[in-house]
Amino acid sequence: MPELPEMETYRTLLGTLIGGQKITDVVIQREKSINVPVDQFTKQISNQTIKTISRRAKYLIFQLGDGSYLLLHLMLGGWMFFGKEEDKPDRTIQVRLSFGDQHLFFIGLRLGYLHLLSSDMVNKELEDMGPEPLDPQFSIDAFQQLMEKRKGTLKTTLINQDALAGIGGGYSDEILWHAELRPDKKVNDLDGQQLTRLYHSIQFILQRGIKQGGYMENPLYKGDGKTGGYQFYVHAREGDECSRCHARIVMEKISSRKAYFCPNCQH
Ligand SMILES: [Zn+2]
Repeated sequence: MPELPEMETYRTLLGTLIGGQKITDVVIQREKSINVPVDQFTKQISNQTIKTISRRAKYLIFQLGDGSYLLLHLMLGGWMFFGKEEDKPDRTIQVRLSFGDQHLFFIGLRLGYLHLLSSDMVNKELEDMGPEPLDPQFSIDAFQQLMEKRKGTLKTTLINQDALAGIGGGYSDEILWHAELRPDKKVNDLDGQQLTRLYHSIQFILQRGIKQGGYMENPLYKGDGKTGGYQFYVHAREGDECSRCHARIVMEKISSRKAYFCPNCQH
């Protein structure tokens, strides 16, 4: 599932591609991907300008000219492609937004969705989420306070969106590898030094993910050299050598979630 760095990469690239552009046509091929009747959705967003594109956790928020919003969550398997009809990937398209002869295609939206909402509705949708880990206000003190209340394992806590927003299965493994901490270790067993290390690893790995364009498999547009440059240290690399100590990376399930880690150098 796309996480904070993937959505941040989309946000930056889409800002350049469609920021300030007018939606000239709308095609909905899967009604379940939207939240209002197709006619209403189409009528309300047609001819509107994309004013801003922002991100919160794993959501993208498109602000439209009339003050309404499109809230996108790609969930598992969702992705986007921007380009001309002839460049479109050979995949089923659930939603297509046109900007003249270029289109933004939404692909793989099974659990994912694009909802048309008012400002209040967007706020309500996002209100229960934890802080943004890269927010400059999210200090080491704020992190320590947040973790004091948590009792679960490091793996389950990092991916809990109510605790900390935007981290999922992939980057939680990467962060814990970088911090040299085992995913099944309990949050309240960490000492001050380990908590500080975890905080810095969260910042480091997420920033690295963004810088390298995240881990999405598919490019956003033809010639896109940015998307998908991130290489995992441990995630989905069971049996490979740990690049730090050369032991074999293992996968274990923690509360039914797959955790990849190095049993030798993560403690
Ligand atoms: Zn190792």
